[in-house]
Amino acid sequence: MTDAGQSVKIRQMKIFLLFILRLLSWIDYAYRALVRWILPFPYRRAGRCRQCGECCKNILIGIEPRMLRIAALRNFAIWWNKYFNNLYLIGSFLDDGLMVFGCNYLRDDGRCGNYNLSRPVFCFEYPRLFKYFEKPVELPGCGFKFVARK
Ligand code: SF4
Ligand code: SF4
Repeated sequence: MTDAGQSVKIRQMKIFLLFILRLLSWIDYAYRALVRWILPFPYRRAGRCRQCGECCKNILIGIEPRMLRIAALRNFAIWWNKYFNNLYLIGSFLDDGLMVFGCNYLRDDGRCGNYNLSRPVFCFEYPRLFKYFEKPVELPGCGFKFVARK
C-alpha cells in the first residue's frame, strides 16, 4: 500500500473511532439527563452562551490522583485528548487529580472553530451540574447562571 493510501486508511479509522467514542459519550450524557429528570437537582441552568470562549481556555479533566501519578497513564491521557479532542496540555495538579487543557479549535475571537456534532460532548454540556447539594460555580462573565428551583 502507498503512503497516501495508508494515511487515508488511518484517517478513516480515526473517524470511525471518533464516531464510536462520541456515541458512547452521548449515551452517557442521555443516562445522566435521565437521572436528573427523575431526581432533579436543586439548581437548574438558565441563560445562554455568549460565545466568549472563556470556558475553552482552561478545561479541567479529573482523573483519579493515584492513576495520574503514573507517567504512562498520564501520557496516555494527554495523547488521547490531543488525538481525539484536539486539546493540548497546559498543566497538571497531581495531588488533586486534575489536568488542565487548552483547545486548539478555539479561535482568536473566542468562537469555536469546530462548532458541530463532532466536538466533545463536554462542550455541549458546559456548564454542567456536578454535585447534587452544592451550588455550581459560575465562570465570571459566562452567559449561563444557576438558579434555585422553586
Ligand atoms: S464561558 Fe459561558 S458564555 Fe463563554 S463560551 Fe463558555 S459557556 Fe459560553
Ligand atoms: S471544541 Fe470548541 S467548544 Fe469545545 S472546547 Fe474547543 S473551542 Fe471550546
